[in-house]
Amino acid sequence: MSHLPNSLEARDVAYQLHSYTDARRHEEAGPLVIERGEGVYVYDTSGKRYIEGMAGLWSVALGFGEKRLAAAAARQMEKLPYYHTFAHKSHAPSVELAEKLVAMAPVPMSKAYFTNSGSEANDTAIKMIWYRSNALGQPERKKIISRVKGYHGVTIASASLTGLPNNHRSFDLPIDKVLHTTCPHYRTMARPGESEADFARRCAQDLEELILKEGPETVAAFFAEPVMGAGGVIVPPQGYWEAIQPVLKKYDILFVADEVICGFGRTGDAFGSTTYGLEPDMMTLSKQLSSSYLPISALLVNEKVYAPIADESHAIGTWGHGFTGSGHPVAAAVALENLKIMEERDVLGHVRQVAPHFQARLRALARHPLAVEARGIGMLGAVEFSHEMLRDKPGALGGRIFAAMQEKGLIARNLYDTVAFCPPLIISEDEIDAMFDMAEAAVAEVAKETGV
Ligand code: PMP
Repeated sequence: MSHLPNSLEARDVAYQLHSYTDARRHEEAGPLVIERGEGVYVYDTSGKRYIEGMAGLWSVALGFGEKRLAAAAARQMEKLPYYHTFAHKSHAPSVELAEKLVAMAPVPMSKAYFTNSGSEANDTAIKMIWYRSNALGQPERKKIISRVKGYHGVTIASASLTGLPNNHRSFDLPIDKVLHTTCPHYRTMARPGESEADFARRCAQDLEELILKEGPETVAAFFAEPVMGAGGVIVPPQGYWEAIQPVLKKYDILFVADEVICGFGRTGDAFGSTTYGLEPDMMTLSKQLSSSYLPISALLVNEKVYAPIADESHAIGTWGHGFTGSGHPVAAAVALENLKIMEERDVLGHVRQVAPHFQARLRALARHPLAVEARGIGMLGAVEFSHEMLRDKPGALGGRIFAAMQEKGLIARNLYDTVAFCPPLIISEDEIDAMFDMAEAAVAEVAKETGV
């Protein structure tokens, strides 16, 4: 990094604490400062170009530098830069976006509620669920089940839902009332000789056993991503959702589909719930909703969830919840324009066209001897590498491959030894080839260095 005292790098180290970063290591290594973006590419301050193979954080669906989104933000800024939705107030962008999202939902939904991040959406979902249980005269029905390796955010309740050690360790999490059931990763979790279908059934049995152990009358909801993202891109085994959903129905447990990554085309359908035939009672949405040009998230709730909340708010005199930025007009205007562009350009059609190539190249990358598995669907994928080959600690190999890719001009993401790819949805076949050519060259280089 540049050590000039006034460089951005030096000032970054001096003043900024980074998310998901080893702070002491950062003091030594410094940041990679990104200056601008165009299409699937971003450029650092030295002018070096990178393919953004993760669309930022699984989110910049339309790619970087989309002028229509900037124009939509500017128009709304000039007209009404801010207003809220508290105490019966409203504004056109929030109304239009709520209407649009309810219309797009893959199952009948009643209302949209706006928040600013995926974490806030999931946190709000838990508060809605607790409020609803009280409204229904079932105060004991408060436990929430999510899954080991699920990712639902980092606020106190949503980090509790998240089933990953780094989000709990030293944070005194998870909170009680949040329980985790089996991760549906066939390769690592199946018993010897267990078929994929049997493993899927056992995941549902594990869920049912947990519900029975806790007491079905105490379990309020189940949270899950249709395809797990940050936990390592874990695609559910065949028959998984078909086995899980009847268990939830049997015990009248609400199903919250966390569509923060899957939503808006990532799996090749409008929602991951569409791809897997899910019938959620609530959905949480963010990221590709605005291509992350501005922070915004939303919850969709069905009538079964909405009606008791409405009644309780009437009994109390208010639904005592809301963020200053809930339904922010500029973020909502950008989200609306983003969805409009996706429709006009048939981004979903494009995803369906190029996803088979993306998946084929992903699987080709996983044929390297250092790799153990490729996982993916639509424009979401990951290759898991084997740290055991290096006799090194988990994550070391993934970290090396990630660094070699970045050096070559590809930004991917390593989740321990799994390297994830989640490019902007607008990526072309040639750009997919460029991305995987760099990934293959990086893996070959690391293999050569390590003698594997
Ligand atoms: N849910 C899922 C499935 C996510 O992938 C994420 C973020 N990666 C979140 C929730 C949390 O979103 P945020 O970072 O906006 O709080």
